[in-house]
Order: sequence, then structure tokens, then C-alpha cells
Amino acid sequence: MDYEGVLVIGEQRGGRVHSVTFELLARGRALADKLGVKLSCVILGHGLQQYAQEIVQRGADTAYVIDDPALEWFLPRTYCNAVVELIEEAKPEVVLAAATTTGRTLMPLVAARLMTGLTADCTGLDIDEKERLLLQTRPAIGGNVMATIKTPVARPQMATVRPKSARPLPADPGRRGEVVVKAYKREAASSASEKMLEFVADATQEVSVQDAEVIVAGGKGLKTRDGFKLVEDLARELGAAVGATRDVVDLGWIGYSHQIGLSGKTVSPKLYVAIGISGTIQHLAGMQTAETIVAINRDKDAQIFKVADFGIVGDLFQVVPEIIEKLQRAKAHKAL
Ligand SMILES: Cc1cc2nc3c(=O)[nH]c(=O)nc-3n(C[C@H](O)[C@H](O)[C@H](O)COP(=O)(O)OP(=O)(O)OC[C@H]3O[C@@H](n4cnc5c(N)ncnc54)[C@H](O)[C@@H]3O)c2cc1C
Repeated sequence: MDYEGVLVIGEQRGGRVHSVTFELLARGRALADKLGVKLSCVILGHGLQQYAQEIVQRGADTAYVIDDPALEWFLPRTYCNAVVELIEEAKPEVVLAAATTTGRTLMPLVAARLMTGLTADCTGLDIDEKERLLLQTRPAIGGNVMATIKTPVARPQMATVRPKSARPLPADPGRRGEVVVKAYKREAASSASEKMLEFVADATQEVSVQDAEVIVAGGKGLKTRDGFKLVEDLARELGAAVGATRDVVDLGWIGYSHQIGLSGKTVSPKLYVAIGISGTIQHLAGMQTAETIVAINRDKDAQIFKVADFGIVGDLFQVVPEIIEKLQRAKAHKAL
């Protein structure tokens, strides 16, 4: 059988399908329509059948559910075995997964097992209609160029997709599709080398930067750990997540999970407020797809203003307290 169709590898966390799955379905639907083929989606976990209909409503023609207590937590080799088995059976021509920690860990294993290529962290996907090839576009060389990669020979063509780089389709309650609950072959998945011991939540982070719709991020312009509190104060007022540049993380003002940029997290929030950040290419690579960027910097020539929608040229130690005060006053006024 020839390879045909698009398969999305869905993600679940804590027994709930993660919204990145719906973003992938929107991407997958557009590709499947261009190719004139079906879109399927697989979720692996335990007690997830209830989500199958929503996966169909969000664009899939077929929802595969591989359900087993052993799949409750993400274990790379166990998940790899289950995904490889499905791909070998369903033979999709395109496989998409999220460029999350899970996807970035799982998909290289899957690609190696299937002896095919994998383009990590794509921001753009399209179909070369003449050749029926997946066009996999991602920033390269520190974000200076956009590279488009093809997989002409090996199948399936596989890519991980940057979270928040596509909007999910609205759920259509009228959409019909097939739900296939698949058995999990324990013997194929046995791996003595991996075992879930305990799940420890990141207690330092109230809102994760990758899930946040609003991020307030600070750079070395905050001068000290104490100065960086201004970023945290503004984030609290806005109900936002706190982001940071690598220099700030290296200085120990905040943990690595908050770092945004080339060697940190990629984010695409609705609003990104950059305070005392110069806007180096490595930082921009992680945040320039934000919907609206507001920058506060005393240097009018700072690179960050090149990508900002709104800029405030001024001393952040004056500007930020003023914004916080205005927000507090507006809230108090509303509460009256
Ligand atoms: C391979 C590689 C990977 C990297 N990965 C990352 C990454 O993932 N993320 C990342 O962020 N960096 C990364 N970097 C580091 C990057 O090159 C920069 O060093 C870093 O982004 C600069 O951080 P910054 O903007 O906080 O500091 P600076 O560049 O020092 O900027 C500080 C800014 O604060 C402004 N400022 C100072 N005082 C005030 C004030 N009182 N009021 C207002 N503004 C003020 C200044 O005008 C300046 O623009 C990487 C580098 C390499 C080589």
C-alpha cells in the first residue's frame, strides 16, 4: 500500500487532551485538503475516549485512541513503540507532532525507527502541489533565514510544529468521523529502562510561558534581582506569565523554564511586553510571532523596537511603576 493521508500525533497532559492537538488539527486539515486525502489523529493515554468526538469536531476524519494505564504518563520508548506501530499500519504520507518537550523527545525516536526525515520546530507548512511534497519551513541560523525543507524520498514526511503558530478550528458539532479504539501491545512496548517514578509540577511558575496569552518579559536592563521584581509585579497585575532573556537566567534572577529565545522557549502570546530587553536575534527568535509586542527601553535605537507594535522610550524604573499604578487605579475604579 502506498503512503496516503495526514496523521496528527495529539498530546495529553494529566489525562486531558492538550490544546496544541487542536492547533495541529488545523494545520493537518489544511494540508489534507490540499492533498485531497483524509486527516487522522491519535491520542495515547488512559481514559481519553471522551475526547475522540472533539478531535473529529476539530477537523479529523478519524480519531485513533490508544488507551491503556501504561500510557498514562509520557514514556519516550513506550510511546514510540505505539506510534511506530500505528504509522506502519496506517501508512500516512505526512505526520505532524507538536514541537513541545514531548514532541521533541518522541519524534526523533520515531523518525530513527522509521528511517525517515524529521524537520523540527516548523513555523510554516504547505504542499508543493506539483510534487505532492510537504514544504516544511522553520527559522534557521539564529532566526536570520527561513529554511524550507522537503523529504523527497523517505516516507512518511514528518515535522514538529511550533506551538501557538496556528489557531485551532472551532469545534463543529455537526462534523462526523470515525473513532477507532486501538489495543496497546504491551509486549511490543516493554522497556525495562524507563519507568515513571513521580510527577513533580514546576512550582516556580504560576502560568507557563508557552500556555500564556500574555507575557511580561524582562532583560538585563532591570539591573538586579530586586529590580526584576518590577516585571513580576506587572505580570501579576496583568495575570501574565513571566519571561526572561538568557542573560537574566544566567544571572540567576529566575529559572531556565522562563527563558525565551533560541535556546529557551518559543512563545506566541496575544501580548508580549518586553522590559529592558535589547532584542538580539536570539531573543527575537523565540517571541517575534507574538500578536502584539510592546517594548520599553531607554535606547531609542534598540533592536526590540524593530519588531514592536508599540514602543515606550524611557527609563523602565519610571515607566513600569506608572503602568502598575494606572492598572491598580483602573481596577479599584471598576470594583466600586
Ligand atoms: C547560541 C546562543 C543562544 C542564545 N539564546 C538566547 C535565548 O534563548 N534567549 C535570549 O534572550 N538570549 C539568548 N542568547 C543571548 C543573546 O545573545 C543576548 O545576550 C541576550 O538576549 C541579551 O539579553 P538582554 O536583552 O537582557 O540584555 P542586553 O542586551 O544587555 O540589553 C539590556 C537592554 O536594557 C536597556 N536598558 C538598560 N537600562 C534601562 C533602563 N533603566 N530603562 C529602560 N531600558 C534600559 C538597554 O538599553 C538594553 O537595550 C543566546 C546567545 C547565543 C550565542
